[in-house]
Amino acid sequence: MTLYLKYRSNNLDELDLPEVRESLKKIVSSGKIPHAFLFAGPKGTGKTSAARIMAKIINCEEIAKSEKLKVKSYEPCDKCEQCVSVTKGNNLDVIEMDAASHRGIDDVRTLRDVVKLSPVKANKKVYIIDEAHMLTTEASNALLKTIEEPPEHVVFILATTNPEKLIDTIRSRTTFIRFRKASSEEIRQSLTRVIKGEKLDFDPKTLEDIAGAANGSFRDAVKLLEQVSVEGNNFLEKGKAQGVDEFVGFLYKKNLHNALNYIKNAVEAGAGAEGILKQALIEIHKNIILDISENRELIVLAELLIEANRQVPDSPIEELPLEIAVIKWCGGETKNEELITKSGDMGDKTSVEEVVETVEAAVENMEVEGEIWNTILSSIKPINASIEALLRAARPVAYDGKTLTLGVYYKFHKERLEDTQHRQVLENIVARVLQSPTRVVCTLVEPPAKKIIEETKIEPILTEGKDKDIIKVAEEIFGN
Ligand SMILES: [Zn+2]
Repeated sequence: MTLYLKYRSNNLDELDLPEVRESLKKIVSSGKIPHAFLFAGPKGTGKTSAARIMAKIINCEEIAKSEKLKVKSYEPCDKCEQCVSVTKGNNLDVIEMDAASHRGIDDVRTLRDVVKLSPVKANKKVYIIDEAHMLTTEASNALLKTIEEPPEHVVFILATTNPEKLIDTIRSRTTFIRFRKASSEEIRQSLTRVIKGEKLDFDPKTLEDIAGAANGSFRDAVKLLEQVSVEGNNFLEKGKAQGVDEFVGFLYKKNLHNALNYIKNAVEAGAGAEGILKQALIEIHKNIILDISENRELIVLAELLIEANRQVPDSPIEELPLEIAVIKWCGGETKNEELITKSGDMGDKTSVEEVVETVEAAVENMEVEGEIWNTILSSIKPINASIEALLRAARPVAYDGKTLTLGVYYKFHKERLEDTQHRQVLENIVARVLQSPTRVVCTLVEPPAKKIIEETKIEPILTEGKDKDIIKVAEEIFGN
């Protein structure tokens, strides 16, 4: 048995999140258990464990006795037939369903029929429906009818990581219990139970690292603990961003160039933006608490990074929110804040493949530096990485002091670049690099790889490929 299953909470007191613990205790001790709950929150925060504890409480034979004796007892005894069978997962009246695999209307119709039947042995039947947001709308409506007029002997516990995806009427007819990501301190406390039980030996630093890497999930924390106990501390080092203290040093010095370079290299080496952000925040946190009066500015930095961390899950380019935060902090481009478009700026029409393709193209061509064209590219990347990626499949064709003509290889890219919002960002950067207001126009040209030299209107050298050639021509065009 995995340690997570072995040490999962067995009663309300063992639940890791204090506010969940208190809400459920209040409900149970009121003696009025609602007929439908909605447990909502991130994965690994204890929803299923809490649902099973509630299932035990609802049917525990000892609690039933204590009610008759009017003695207040709200924790499951964990000894009676009902409690034991729930723990073992073989209680016939506690039905756990994964909505992801029973999401259709037929499943829910069957459910509606089955719920009418009396419990086999228990006082009440408890349906635990995991990932409830996965139900189809039809299925949700069918479930709603059952929840609206439930048989006396049924309690529903819906669990979901995405409550906003449930139909409103289900949300409004269930008792909502919010689960949240755990703090590092809460995770450490939770791990103590496992460490004591298994007689493991962990130094505080390793525990701190595990808590940090678990990203608010009790389940992930126990899994990591188990892996570290088997594979040793090195396990934690894998996939961890190296040299974050150096990165933080760049931030303190407001060295934009080095900070952005660090991000690029760390991401290429396989570190996730969340990992970099988290470790950077740990570093900054140490300095903030050293001397608050001295380090007020660091609070601003911490806030920027926390905001970036919040945006990472929704960003198609994982490191972009981090890069934006770094630029804002270093003050390099603060005047262009209004130009910083949301990281989702590739738009709905763009497929994931296209994003990946353009981003890969951008990464591939990162070596050359210094010249005007590259300055344009590197100035635009942190502000809008997707424009920069689009420009990687383009080259400057002409510049007359007022208008910069870009030869773009693909129609789709041309359309994206001509999009008003994108063009404004681009023109602004180009104007800044060239130190003169500049209009940008795009024209379709053949991509260089195809070597169509025959009778194109462009200079032959342009069709030959690689960035170096483009740079050479760019130099000529910009009169460098
Ligand atoms: Zn019991």
